[in-house]
Amino acid sequence: MDPNRPEASHVAVREGRILAVGGADCADQWGEVVHDDSLAHAVLIPGFVEGHSHMAETVFWDYAYAGFHDRIDPDGRLWRGKTDIETVIADLCAHVETQPDDAPLIAWGFDPIFLTGERLNRDHLDQVSGDRPVVVLFSSGHLMCVNSKALEAVGYDRESNIEGVMRCADGEPSGELQEMAAMFPVMRRMGMDTRTLSHAPDYVDAFGRICVRAGVTTATDLFAMLTDETAQSLIATTAAPDYPVRVVPAVSTIHTSAEEVQAQVGSLAAQNHDKLRFGAVKLMTDGSIQGYSARVKWPGYVGGQSNGIWNMAPEEIFRTCEMMQEAGIQMHIHTNGDEASEVVLDALEAAARKHPWPGARHVLQHAQMMGPALFARAAELGVCVNLFANHIWYFGDQHAALTIGEDRAARMDGCRSALDAGVHLAIHSDAPVTPMGPLFTAWCAVNRVTTSGRVLGAAQRISVDEALFAITMGAAYTLRMDGEVGSIEAGKRADFAVLGDDPTAVDPMALRDVPVLGTVTGGHLNLL
Ligand SMILES: [Zn+2]
Repeated sequence: MDPNRPEASHVAVREGRILAVGGADCADQWGEVVHDDSLAHAVLIPGFVEGHSHMAETVFWDYAYAGFHDRIDPDGRLWRGKTDIETVIADLCAHVETQPDDAPLIAWGFDPIFLTGERLNRDHLDQVSGDRPVVVLFSSGHLMCVNSKALEAVGYDRESNIEGVMRCADGEPSGELQEMAAMFPVMRRMGMDTRTLSHAPDYVDAFGRICVRAGVTTATDLFAMLTDETAQSLIATTAAPDYPVRVVPAVSTIHTSAEEVQAQVGSLAAQNHDKLRFGAVKLMTDGSIQGYSARVKWPGYVGGQSNGIWNMAPEEIFRTCEMMQEAGIQMHIHTNGDEASEVVLDALEAAARKHPWPGARHVLQHAQMMGPALFARAAELGVCVNLFANHIWYFGDQHAALTIGEDRAARMDGCRSALDAGVHLAIHSDAPVTPMGPLFTAWCAVNRVTTSGRVLGAAQRISVDEALFAITMGAAYTLRMDGEVGSIEAGKRADFAVLGDDPTAVDPMALRDVPVLGTVTGGHLNLL
């Protein structure tokens, strides 16, 4: 990633940083050199930067896995995907036996869009238990389905007037709950405080293992909710000399006033160290495309579903953007549908007119439906995009057939258009929505192959070099860490992904199969 020295056989490390890069003698002018050939069989490239992930994944692994795809846990164990509702129910029934009496039963990773037949509802989950709450989180994190006991626990009935409490034809709640206003009461009541729990030491350590497995040395926690206590735990755990990843939390603006967020970010950032970087916030505007809760422009969803849900009303988006811009706080802003992306660009433009800040580097996160005109505006405003390339493989077939239709699916996560418009580009997994694995993410952006094997939107493919840049320097730029990580260059942190093959030499279709052997973080080796 350093054009001055794109390839080298040796790298010299001192005090956790890169001292020199080149041949066997590259560091001789710096004094006595100790040679270590233990990685001579491997390929070192810059440690990957995951610009959109969530530490809450570690807590999810305490729940039952109900996902469609096979999945590897932080310790390397394989969990089989469940490809029909009957298997999901049967697994949950078995899970009941392993749980203490009265504890709510919680599963995660489910997505009805992959299944045929009746949509998961309260009647299915009542078969699992009639006397304790059952909650099935959908993989997007934006929807869930619960049983009758859980509905009763939060008082949702046919009289409830809350957006996102979905209904059957007879007016009774179906059990499906969409977006935060409808879901948060259930999460609070069931103790599913995954975002706060995930900052306890054991979970922070588990997150480190997920990152090492993926070759990642810098990763985000992009909707961090912290108490004073969990913030101290996160600060202390990541400070351990052998902690393998630099964590960049973006604090949630939900449930707190913009003024409170501003104060919290300021006091947290004062405690930053080399493996923990507070300073940014996360705004969540709309929902998920595959959950039909994203806000999309005309002609909407192909099935005629209603147009999504705002987690923040547009007026609130404008107000928060202006306040954060005035305070000099970088924003990572979730926008899935193109209507949401457009509203956010309008808000950022208005904020920039009032409080000019050329180096803000605000980032539209996902921004999956942006086309050339919106990318052009992002470039003009200095706004970065972090596109959800993994969607092409995971959901591409469904987007073409069921959500936004063939034309708009073919230009989704348009990496080519973004780069051509001059936008700073990163690509991401949104783990745990899809598994963390930047080489897989790069593979998606390069090949745009879906689960069914078709190429979706060939014109939006990018080169292997461009994709590797996006998962290193591109993502580092969006985190304001491009001067510190993202390339193997004298002066930068000694952060490497240790690979079993050269990703620039393999067939582009084999990019996702390049083995990750471990990472080096600040000169410290973390082998799997
Ligand atoms: Zn996310």
